[in-house]
Amino acid sequence: MQFDVQILARIIEHAPTCILLLEKDGVIVYANLHGQKFFGFSKDELAGKPLSFLPDFYDKLSAHDSTLKSVIDGTLKNSKITCGSSNKVCMMNSIKIGGVGPDQDLTALVIKDITEEEVLHEQIEKKELEIAKMNAELIRSKAELKKLSSLKSNFLSIASHELNTPLTSIKGYSDIIIDNMREKIEPSVFRMIESISRAADRLHKVVNNMLDVTKIEQNRLRLHPEPVDIGAICKDCVEEISQLAAKRKITFICGIASDLPMFNGDRARLYQVFTNLFSNAIKYSPDGSSVNVSIAVKHGNRFHIIVKDRGIGIDEEEHKNIFHPFYEVGSSNRHSTDFTKFMGGGSGLGLSIAKGVVERHGGKIWVESAGAEKGNFPGSEFHILLPLHANITWDDDDTKSNGTKRLLEADAAFSESRDSTSQQEQVKPKVLFIDPDKEGVEIASMILEDVFDIITAPNGEQGLKLAFHQAPALILMDAHLPGLDSWRVCRILRSQEETRDIPIAFFSDNAKDDEVKRSFESGANDFIVKPFSPKELVEKIWRLLMDKQEEETFR
Ligand code: ADP
Repeated sequence: MQFDVQILARIIEHAPTCILLLEKDGVIVYANLHGQKFFGFSKDELAGKPLSFLPDFYDKLSAHDSTLKSVIDGTLKNSKITCGSSNKVCMMNSIKIGGVGPDQDLTALVIKDITEEEVLHEQIEKKELEIAKMNAELIRSKAELKKLSSLKSNFLSIASHELNTPLTSIKGYSDIIIDNMREKIEPSVFRMIESISRAADRLHKVVNNMLDVTKIEQNRLRLHPEPVDIGAICKDCVEEISQLAAKRKITFICGIASDLPMFNGDRARLYQVFTNLFSNAIKYSPDGSSVNVSIAVKHGNRFHIIVKDRGIGIDEEEHKNIFHPFYEVGSSNRHSTDFTKFMGGGSGLGLSIAKGVVERHGGKIWVESAGAEKGNFPGSEFHILLPLHANITWDDDDTKSNGTKRLLEADAAFSESRDSTSQQEQVKPKVLFIDPDKEGVEIASMILEDVFDIITAPNGEQGLKLAFHQAPALILMDAHLPGLDSWRVCRILRSQEETRDIPIAFFSDNAKDDEVKRSFESGANDFIVKPFSPKELVEKIWRLLMDKQEEETFR
């Protein structure tokens, strides 16, 4: 395509970049409009002048010999300079373009003002740097938060276990006194001891809640599922809590569908969810109000549980927060009004545990409420959805799967055996207790000595000796023995003919999954978590002894 020379000349004249034509000695022969504006001279003023006529520009070019030379040679490529009092940033290129006559050897110098682009670029770079810094800060804060959260979980876990050990003694001693020494003690002292036992129960509940929260946070909440009737669990819980509700004249109204299918879930944990929701409904409602509880199947694939109270309500911005551990809404005086004083206030753990349990069953929990307003009772509605058929990998072990049935059997056997023991002067089964904690040994002995013949050892080595020489019917062993560790003791016992079949139960104030797993792997038959009530301990022992008897019968 042929272009009219005039058109080309006009394009050059009006081009938005600055174009200078230079002769080979650097003299300017032409400057387009942009060039004239850029340097602040007219075409005529610039024509015939050497580059040094533009002193500031010239100084910048001659700062490097090579730059000035390549300008004139037509070999300058993308060279950036800052010039002028306004500090303009320019991008320069030069190219030989020949000339009209044979002697004419022109160079075109193209100067692009990139000041705005540079400023923008600088700003972007600055922003990118800021973002990078903020990102680094975020990553650091996230890591710090994670560390803090894990520290908190560890602290809770350690604190709970440290509390559990003395609690076992308090509960153990007080229950022994209550069960066996009523006649020997002044009634007023006896009542004090009953108070101690009740306080220990309350503290035990708090400690267990703290442990549950750490288990949920560390994803180690173990469920023991079985087919359960959710409606029946709910009704049982309502019945139990009704005594507490009656004190505040609060009534529970149940609307539970009669044809609910069975649910594969953890009975005790579901009971715990209902207990937490119901006790909150009572705590945060005025005297004389009512609580509605309904359970129905929704859309044919999930249970929908609703607990609706007529209490103080919860502001919308708190709806999510209340499910966080240790979170409590506002100050406790918001939990009371001019009409009535509520029993509000707790440890702030109930709802986070409920959420953890519901989610572990594959469900969802949330609250709906019009918000809290002093003196008004908008009420709150807690909703739970649970899948009819939860596809969950249960963390189970066989000692728990038939829990209730086996416990009933053990209970019956215990009562039967206790009766017959007194009647027939039966020989007491020998139980070897390996535990370095003197107090623990003393309490267990007091609990068990009526029914069992107790022998004790403070460490694994002595425990092994007694096991070989005295052939106990059962061994109870602390999971944290000094010296020869309990897993090795257990493996040695399992490897020897004389001790191979003795039921062994580990006990600990901690139930870390890996510890429990190791215990079972080393050959233990059960793992008992402290603190245990005297009844629980006796039941466990009978259950193990019965299992062994059953095995021997079928062998
Ligand atoms: P807490 O032991 O303190 O009751 P929760 O985890 O059970 O702990 O509840 C967290 C907070 O949520 C409570 O402190 C209370 O402020 C609020 N809350 C829970 N249930 C209700 C309710 N039914 N009505 C009003 N506020 C409630």
